[in-house]
Amino acid sequence: MTPHGIMFHHFHGEGHPEGMGSIGADKLREVIERFKSRIIQAPAFHERAISGTLEPQDICLTFDDTLFSQYEIAEPILAHYGIKAFWFVHTAPLIYPGWLGPAMFRDFQLEFFRNVGELHRSLRELATEEEQAAPMDLAHLAEFDFYTPEDRTYRHFRDVVLGPTRFNVLMSDLMEKLEYCPTLPLWMTPPQVRDLYVKGHSLGLHSHSHPRNMGELPGINQIQEYGHNQYTLYHTLGLPTGHKFPSASHPSNSYNSETLGVLRSKGVQLAFRANMESASWPGEHLLEMPREDVANL
Ligand SMILES: [Zn+2]
Repeated sequence: MTPHGIMFHHFHGEGHPEGMGSIGADKLREVIERFKSRIIQAPAFHERAISGTLEPQDICLTFDDTLFSQYEIAEPILAHYGIKAFWFVHTAPLIYPGWLGPAMFRDFQLEFFRNVGELHRSLRELATEEEQAAPMDLAHLAEFDFYTPEDRTYRHFRDVVLGPTRFNVLMSDLMEKLEYCPTLPLWMTPPQVRDLYVKGHSLGLHSHSHPRNMGELPGINQIQEYGHNQYTLYHTLGLPTGHKFPSASHPSNSYNSETLGVLRSKGVQLAFRANMESASWPGEHLLEMPREDVANL
């Protein structure tokens, strides 16, 4: 056993469609019941982490990406159990609610495609000959065992063959072609984020635009990502200029030593990975705390 976070993303339920790793309210209740004796409040988990007093069985709950389904479905359950969690806030959607980011791509995919293979085929049709000819890689993201072979080849095409900029271009072309228009709010609004803060949850950084390849970006872009993230978050919460947030999670588990330096300079003391690997625990590397995806529980 090693101290870690449990990582949550999408929830389904009334008004929130099921799919792509989403869980329902029942699953969250089941996880809380199962780990009740081990779950530590986020502020206490943070204190124990930085004072080196975490016990091997200690667990905290973490919610990434500022998703509206988390606010509507998960937060009331946390309130019922009196649990304070970490919420890692991706801030661009707080300024632009139509932000072309992972949650919008997911919503588009759920509405128009029966599975990831169909989306993959439609994107390939819009790609250049060279992109289409690139070999598929079934071993991509081998460390995440819950991905299907279809998920792996799609993610390889998206992240490696296309890369973030081309992927965004092709996705917006496809959205336009199919006349996609999101019907649901996908992200929390600034008042909802403030509400979490007022309720005593621990809010932390998760980058501004949510690049999937933070660890490959030049240092200046990483500084901008976390700088905008910090600025937008304290501004949203009405906190003093320069307010520091002491926790974070690495978007898409991508970071390098430069990222850790940027996080330290922003006052981050504790940051979470997106899997259970953490070569350095126990040790001084509090910026690489492991997390278990709820999909694995
Ligand atoms: Zn994320």
